[in-house]
Amino acid sequence: MSQNPQPLGGNDMPRFGGIATFMRLPGSSSPGELDVAVVGVPFDLGTSNRPGARFGPRGIRDESVLLRPYNMATRAAPFDSLRVDDTGDVATNPYNLLDSVERITTHYSGLLEHDLVTATLGGDHTIVLPILRAMAAKHGPVGLVHVDAHSDINDEMFGERIAHGTPFRRAVEEGLLDCDRVVQIGMRGTGYAADDFDWSREQGFRVVQAEECWHKSLVPLMEEVCEKVSGGPVYLSFDIDGIDPSFAPGTGTPEVGGLTVHQALEIVRGCRGLDIVGFDLVEVAPIYDTSGLTSLTGANMVYEMLCVLPGVTYRG
Ligand code: MN
Ligand code: MN
Repeated sequence: MSQNPQPLGGNDMPRFGGIATFMRLPGSSSPGELDVAVVGVPFDLGTSNRPGARFGPRGIRDESVLLRPYNMATRAAPFDSLRVDDTGDVATNPYNLLDSVERITTHYSGLLEHDLVTATLGGDHTIVLPILRAMAAKHGPVGLVHVDAHSDINDEMFGERIAHGTPFRRAVEEGLLDCDRVVQIGMRGTGYAADDFDWSREQGFRVVQAEECWHKSLVPLMEEVCEKVSGGPVYLSFDIDGIDPSFAPGTGTPEVGGLTVHQALEIVRGCRGLDIVGFDLVEVAPIYDTSGLTSLTGANMVYEMLCVLPGVTYRG
């Protein structure tokens, strides 16, 4: 076993015991010691319908206790390859959305003073805007793989410019994205206008609506996605509602006809080889899911994203 921080073993402390860090990591490292900082962003002031994503980080950490270090499908060994630890939560302001957004950018800018990748547990999707602000300040405009039922490119919601349905419109306006290297996957459902998704296409994004994914493996799609987004730093933003609500009911704005868990795994595993500089898993709202299934699925997706980071080695 390497000297890197390791998940606490299930034979050293029962899986239902110990402090609930992500994957039972020690939680004691400082950012300067890490290659990957796991960060919780407990925040849901940007939600348009059902709130509760403020409990997402805790829900994901709770269900992550069952995860073991090695990926049995890809043989990835993320914790032997990289120094990964849970660095705790951003102190968001529960009474002020705009102040929270400022706090998130400040927090990430501080983390990114170190040479590390951020692994974010959301939080509603508003949080990707302040994270991308910090990312672009360090790396310049980034490519993006965005999995979601919604394109999150509204100009305004209830007259507000910052909410969980607007972050990628703001990101384009602020020059945070390299628009020719952006792919959105899983969009579906009902819109305010029939051409809602076309604004993304006009920016140069590849938009893969859910129907294009139905009934098939997404391995071929991911070859196309990698071709489009490669050539520079890439951010992965995974809204759990991209997955069908039969797998992930605990979320604020569920849409039927979504991706299967198997397709979600193919998407994440298909990102291997990209220059990933950060990722998030957002919109888990555990209170709508008495079984914990949504948090469990979210925790697994976070683990799978860890497994495709640059520098991860694979056992023979
Ligand atoms: Mn979203
Ligand atoms: Mn969504």
